[in-house]
Amino acid sequence: MTRYVIVGAGLWGSSISYHLARRLLKTQSTSAATITILCATSPCSGSTSQSAGMIISKPPPSPLSNLIQSTVKDIKKFKENSGFVETGTVHLHPPSSSSSSSSSSSSSSSSYKKIAPFLADVCGDYTFLTEGDGYVDPTILAGTYLSSAKKQASTNPRSLTFSLMQNSVVEKIETTAAYDSSDSSSASSSSVSGVTLADERFIPADAIIDATGVFAGALASVTLPFVAVRSHYFNCYHPNEALFPHDMPGVLIPHVGAYFRGSRGGNFLLGVQEKISKTLANDEFRHLDYETLSDLVNGMDDGSEQLIERYEQISELVPEFDEARIVSHHSGLSTYTPDGNYVIGEGKPNLKGYFVASGCCGSGVSSAGGVGEFVANMVCGETSHLAKKFDPARFGKTDFQGEEFKSMCVAARSSKLGKIIN
Ligand SMILES: Cc1cc2nc3c(=O)[nH]c(=O)nc-3n(C[C@H](O)[C@H](O)[C@H](O)COP(=O)(O)OP(=O)(O)OC[C@H]3O[C@@H](n4cnc5c(N)ncnc54)[C@H](O)[C@@H]3O)c2cc1C
Repeated sequence: MTRYVIVGAGLWGSSISYHLARRLLKTQSTSAATITILCATSPCSGSTSQSAGMIISKPPPSPLSNLIQSTVKDIKKFKENSGFVETGTVHLHPPSSSSSSSSSSSSSSSSYKKIAPFLADVCGDYTFLTEGDGYVDPTILAGTYLSSAKKQASTNPRSLTFSLMQNSVVEKIETTAAYDSSDSSSASSSSVSGVTLADERFIPADAIIDATGVFAGALASVTLPFVAVRSHYFNCYHPNEALFPHDMPGVLIPHVGAYFRGSRGGNFLLGVQEKISKTLANDEFRHLDYETLSDLVNGMDDGSEQLIERYEQISELVPEFDEARIVSHHSGLSTYTPDGNYVIGEGKPNLKGYFVASGCCGSGVSSAGGVGEFVANMVCGETSHLAKKFDPARFGKTDFQGEEFKSMCVAARSSKLGKIIN
């Protein structure tokens, strides 16, 4: 019997549980397995619930492209249970850089006006359109991953048991021998034995997947190579609701650092990227619970400064924005790395059975399906050419709490404007 424990039921943990269940049932020979997914409160209480949920299905080629395609496949499989709204995306670029990407088609001014009548005439010279993009409610998608994982297990209960434990705050990862990474003899013989919860229950485990988002690493007292970066967007209302329908195309404006997307209920979202994002180093928040952390992030500012800075450029491209009203401001944290790649792999040197999946670089909704598949394969011992790109140890001995590392993560985020988003 192999016991898998996933800590964190955000979108990544949920997708991992589903893909692990599938993988185990597909490949299992004689031994049985259990998957237990533990969640501090209810599923998706972290970044997932704060996300704008945009899925840009064909970003420029990068290690993340295939992962995103896997999410798209999952969404197709789940159909309406994925909560996906297909909208397509209009990309706006300054005329000098208006090259169409290979995965997109240039749009004539009449065609973009048909699908996005709220765009100004000046946009016509430099738009292109990608189809197949859209947005999800990430909590619905996560719920579907969880219920599908449970369903998978119920098809073969002798081989696989699946349980979701809510209100189960993991306090510590336990190991079989006292762990000391500086002592190679004791470290090499150490493996995970389970997790202890805040209420002192012990859940045994042979493999632990730490999918706790911005908190990843804290449970095993390891500092991972990412910093927490604030993302934010505004929920807006326009009196002419027909102009901004829920399935309006997403609009990406990298040179301005802004995006629009439709929203159910007559509103639309405007995301504004900061030139220098607000960041938190791990040691600034890891002792906090989500509620206190949310208060801290919301208290950073109300976003108005960034909006004012870009207002003129935005309203030149979307003149109707002048008539819109800001209904609310939403913010949350994502985890960013200097190279824009994720932090997925063995989480601590010589500690067997401890895996991390974090460093989402603000695209964790788009890639959730691929991440789930990647992690499921990894914990089952399958190697992938992407493993090196995502290896938590790839930055060597660096001070991940230091200012230099922080500013590299912020720079990576800024340079990702053209790839989009958050
Ligand atoms: C404002 C904003 C907008 C965004 N927009 C987009 C977008 O448009 N498109 C996109 O692709 N991505 C977007 N993102 C990024 C995306 O939301 C994240 O990549 C994704 O939600 C990460 O999911 P996760 O499961 O890794 O983390 P989380 O959702 O944070 O999940 C971690 C879970 O771990 C649990 N947990 C933590 N500690 C413990 C513990 N000790 N014990 C038990 N459980 C624990 C928490 O309760 C939480 O539910 C956005 C992010 C933000 C903040």
